[in-house]
Amino acid sequence: MAYDYIIVGAGIAGITAAEQLANVFNKKVLLIDKRDHIGGNCYDYYDEHGILVHKYGPHIFHTDSQRVFEYLSLYTTWNVYNHKVLGKIGDVLAPIPFNLISIEKCLVDERDALFYSLFEHYEINEEVTILEMRKSDDELIRGLANYVYENVFLHYTQKQWDLSPEELDPSVTSRVPVRISYDCRYFTDKYQRMPANGYTVMFENMLSNHNINILLEKDYHEILDVDFESGKIYFYDEEFKGKIVFTGMIDEFFDYRYGSLPYRSLVLVDEHVDERFFQTNATINYPNDYHFTRITEYKYITGQEAPSTSIQLEYPTKYDPNVSEASIPYYPIPQEKNHELYNKYRLLADEFENVKFIGRLAEYKYLNMDKVVEEVLDWIQECMEDELEE
Ligand SMILES: Cc1cc2nc3c(=O)[nH]c(=O)nc-3n(C[C@H](O)[C@H](O)[C@H](O)COP(=O)(O)OP(=O)(O)OC[C@H]3O[C@@H](n4cnc5c(N)ncnc54)[C@H](O)[C@@H]3O)c2cc1C
Repeated sequence: MAYDYIIVGAGIAGITAAEQLANVFNKKVLLIDKRDHIGGNCYDYYDEHGILVHKYGPHIFHTDSQRVFEYLSLYTTWNVYNHKVLGKIGDVLAPIPFNLISIEKCLVDERDALFYSLFEHYEINEEVTILEMRKSDDELIRGLANYVYENVFLHYTQKQWDLSPEELDPSVTSRVPVRISYDCRYFTDKYQRMPANGYTVMFENMLSNHNINILLEKDYHEILDVDFESGKIYFYDEEFKGKIVFTGMIDEFFDYRYGSLPYRSLVLVDEHVDERFFQTNATINYPNDYHFTRITEYKYITGQEAPSTSIQLEYPTKYDPNVSEASIPYYPIPQEKNHELYNKYRLLADEFENVKFIGRLAEYKYLNMDKVVEEVLDWIQECMEDELEE
């Protein structure tokens, strides 16, 4: 098949692009990935005990975008699922984000006075950042902000990034919220759902089109060659006249010529427990104790019924492409100098008119799944408008 598009990366970005190009534009698409499965970091599968788990950490679908929700609903039915996270603070399990129940559990003696102060200064159901609370003229509110900073945020952040909060973009600290409500949901988006049969099945449905060919366990370097002088791209040694959608690492595309963009990685440890449930809810954060940051129990998320259960512990670690267990670039590190480095690559990317750089690795940005889908749909919309103009 002569391809119109070659898409590097079969994550949700590459899959959405493939689906749209094949179905909307009737284009012939080759989708490649170096892994042995589709789905990128959203991949899920049944483990050896028959439990549906997420290979690369828990992925909860949540969005305020009706457009994204309706688009994905073409390929899956959903289970309603409101994610809940508890944090282990001392001996107590308290809702995260910190809310009125967390105060009741962690700050028993201060509760009445704190509630009085909070209701005097804020609206019920308001979400207030600890940065804002620290500026309050009320000593109790400043004390609450400091408590949350110290017990929920500080050590978790240090474990997560191996950096102190001062070394990270101020936006990271400024976002930590306290909810003046009893709402224990982790997300507040309008649509909070899980694909009823899992992400991988949803992706298989999206890719079910004879115009899409999938090539797995293939690094793009094995089939594509970029000549940076001429801007030409070669596919198996022949000049490729079609377009590329690149969802891999932007620094890798340009042979790391300005240096590597730093990432944080994760060691994910899967365990099976011969009990109906291991913990009280889907995710428990361990901000202060242990080397891991959180434990997730998948049955809560997927709604699967089974007599035993599977859990996953997350140990943040330094990303190192040469060490197999730390070789997945999970999180771009939110620091100004890294954004500046990315911008240098971005300028190079802008010169490649026939290559669309999209997705979390190509944009060096933490993006939720819905944002990735939205960006691809926006790009497809632009392509349609361009085609109409021609
Ligand atoms: C631990 C964790 C939890 C998350 N939880 C949520 C959540 O609850 N909700 C949510 O909305 N989002 C969540 N996300 C974000 C979500 O993972 C991303 O939105 C999504 O994976 C982005 O998709 P993508 O296609 O851009 O990237 P990816 O999924 O990373 O896909 C990129 C693909 O490119 C392939 N590739 C890279 N280099 C090459 C190469 N050289 N040759 C061939 N193939 C290559 C990779 O193998 C990969 O499959 C989470 C992220 C992490 C890290």
